[in-house]
Amino acid sequence: MSQPLPPHARSQTALHLNRIAESGSFSLQVCQECQTVQYPPRDVCSHCLGPQLQWQAVESTATLVAQSTLHHSNEPYFQAKLPWHIGTAKLDCGPVAIVNLPASLSIGQRLRVALELDASQSAVLNATPI
Ligand SMILES: [Zn+2]
Repeated sequence: MSQPLPPHARSQTALHLNRIAESGSFSLQVCQECQTVQYPPRDVCSHCLGPQLQWQAVESTATLVAQSTLHHSNEPYFQAKLPWHIGTAKLDCGPVAIVNLPASLSIGQRLRVALELDASQSAVLNATPI
């Protein structure tokens, strides 16, 4: 029996994150009308509903604003990896994102966030303390 994989259903727009993760860069969509950085990926701007969203390199630093440790999961992939540390990170470029953490960290911890491919080859946000 093969190893279970993490969930990987994504929208067509979000699949572009996989290519960004493969490249090793940190790019998100930026609205060309109001410059709002978007996360998660979407088809129109979350601020002005403008349709011109362009993938651009953005600052990958963030501040941890909340965290939790999961001790249970219904997903077989995660069950073997518990406890799983996750956090809410306020990216310096604007959006707030759910990120994987390497351990339990203090609120306010400065982070560097990377787009990386998980076991299902889907982009995930992994954060490390800086
Ligand atoms: Zn906009």
